[in-house]
Amino acid sequence: MELPYAESWKIKMVEPIRKSTREQREQWLKDAYYNVFQLKADQVYIDCLTDSGTGAMSDRQWAALMTGDESYAGARSFYELKETINRITGFEYVIPTHQGRAAENVLFSALVKSGDIVPGNSHFDTTKGHIESRHAFAVDCTVDEAKDTQLEAPFKGNVDLVKLENVLKSNADKVPFIIVTITNNTAGGQPVSLENIKAVRKLADKYGKRVILDSARFAENAYFIKMREKGYADLTIKEICLEIFRNADGMTMSAKKDGLVNMGGFIATRHEDWYEAAKAFCIPFEGYLTYGGMNGRDMAALAVGLDENTEFEMLHTRIHQVGYLAKKLDEYGVPYQRPAGGHAIFVDASLILTNVPKEEFPAQTLTVELYKEAGVRGCEIGYILADRDPVTRENRFDGLDFVRLAIPRRTYTDNHMDVIAVALKNVYDRREQITKGLKIVWEAELMRHFTVKLEPIV
Ligand SMILES: *Cc1c(COP(=O)(O)O)cnc(C)c1O
Repeated sequence: MELPYAESWKIKMVEPIRKSTREQREQWLKDAYYNVFQLKADQVYIDCLTDSGTGAMSDRQWAALMTGDESYAGARSFYELKETINRITGFEYVIPTHQGRAAENVLFSALVKSGDIVPGNSHFDTTKGHIESRHAFAVDCTVDEAKDTQLEAPFKGNVDLVKLENVLKSNADKVPFIIVTITNNTAGGQPVSLENIKAVRKLADKYGKRVILDSARFAENAYFIKMREKGYADLTIKEICLEIFRNADGMTMSAKKDGLVNMGGFIATRHEDWYEAAKAFCIPFEGYLTYGGMNGRDMAALAVGLDENTEFEMLHTRIHQVGYLAKKLDEYGVPYQRPAGGHAIFVDASLILTNVPKEEFPAQTLTVELYKEAGVRGCEIGYILADRDPVTRENRFDGLDFVRLAIPRRTYTDNHMDVIAVALKNVYDRREQITKGLKIVWEAELMRHFTVKLEPIV
């Protein structure tokens, strides 16, 4: 008999988690204005809000913390991190920042100005926020395949090259760079193929533009290229990473994802002019150039994390677990963005709460129901997250309406996946009775999902 697959690590330290009653959860939700970001973590049983900074570090990473050099300038830990990034990405210049959005802030402060157009594949919310807050426009050029959640395609995160070329043709002078997000988080953790990345490079060259990779999950993307794209099966993850970054000019990185740390980020680029321009914004916003927004010890742990997470077994364990949850949902008939993504399952609320009108935010309603059911916290990646159109101030209902169940790295077991799946099944089985959603009673102008206040419609 063939041996079953098991995790490529064992557990050395554990942390208790708490259950609660439905009555408690109903009260807590009310207190939180039906926004799960406002819950206390202690009120959550299984937390799938995000995979950002929520993973477990390895023994090697914890050991590296102790070796951190906290010198203000020229810290050894910075040079360890820089050497690791150079080796994995091929980019020479590195600026550490406190997280991914800070990397966006520093780099975009140098590159994006009012009236600019930044084409890309489903810009992440903070990326879009940093573009729109500079009165520039994020133009989504994701392939249409991504909109059909039931379609099985290997690279639904891809950039639609025709859409991209149309933007470049008509507005070339307004485009400071093209941004490609790997994996495409907003479209469901879907990967981008190397063929597509190379084609974007070609188009960029044709119009004299540079390419930034929003690389929060570059290692997961490399894993999918190895498993799904012809010609890469025999390359190591590290070889594929180099091939990916060879086609780009720079990257912004949220190290809280594929860096396997709880906090951190960086900018890396091959261009001295970008480095020089970004430097000027790093110092006032983040700090001196050899620590940016990071502690020495955190840079040391990140260097180890980047190395570990660009190894096949680590990625296989992680993505296998996401696939395990997907298989359970298949058993119960719960629809999600197919195939399962790298870091999360994106449950398609529009196919479940069909009796809740979109003006009442079906995915947020499903998020609330799932929490009520079992204390499982997901995250709306849908109409609330989409914010309002910056010009018309209307809600944007043209995208997808998901509940994202993000799986933290090395944190939960497959038993927890079973609980999540059954909780969702129970809500799914009573979906017809859910006919009313939520209304917004207060919202911020940008990135409203973090702080929005909601009320159930009665
Ligand atoms: C998380 C994320 C960011 C922002 O990074 P933070 O570390 O949360 O600031 C940017 N882009 C993508 C694709 C992300 O997933």
